[in-house]
Amino acid sequence: MRILVVEDEHRIANTIKKGLTDERYAVDVSYDGTTGFDLASTEDYDLLVLDLLLPGMDGITICKKLRESNVHTPILILTAKGLIRDKIEGLDSGADDYLTKPFSFEELLARIRALTRRPKDFVSNRLEAGDLTLDSKTYEVKRKGKSIILSSREFSLLEYLMRNKGKVVTKNEIINHVWNYDADILPNTVEVYIKNIRSKIDAPFKGDKTLISTVRGFGYKLTYV
Ligand code: CA
Repeated sequence: MRILVVEDEHRIANTIKKGLTDERYAVDVSYDGTTGFDLASTEDYDLLVLDLLLPGMDGITICKKLRESNVHTPILILTAKGLIRDKIEGLDSGADDYLTKPFSFEELLARIRALTRRPKDFVSNRLEAGDLTLDSKTYEVKRKGKSIILSSREFSLLEYLMRNKGKVVTKNEIINHVWNYDADILPNTVEVYIKNIRSKIDAPFKGDKTLISTVRGFGYKLTYV
């Protein structure tokens, strides 16, 4: 999953980026509001972590403008402004959640998991596709109860396929949700990762259903029934 952090305090921004990257998210950082808004409205993010007091454009304006331009990416406001009326203003401007500084990183992670959970998965962090399960909190991946060890990027890619199970996803969509802006990823790289994931979730389960299929000219699909 790919997250944009808009935060002008470099130390905080970089700490969040490092922490989230360690948790297998692809993270972009913007240190000013104008760039933050431009990125949020043109790139494909799964979540925005947004400070309120920012140079260029403030967080409330960013929220309002994004919602006005039909960008529905979940927004978590992360700010030192902790008054009730600040929270109300933030949520009313289109944000989905609010966390005040200083914050606990564990709480930030829990809120991110909650905001990116799909409605039908609302009781757990576990994604399922047939006999394959993936836990986005413990990073456990199992097929038919057997543990599968994936690298962190393989895990993120499989998570993306599982969140979109039954749908065809293109290589570009995969790149946009699994790697950050700075990553120089070519469609070929996606093929290599898909090959590795297949060797772990499909190849050892001969006789069972092949989960990842290639849709020629379009991309990939995770089928599960
Ligand atoms: Ca600030």
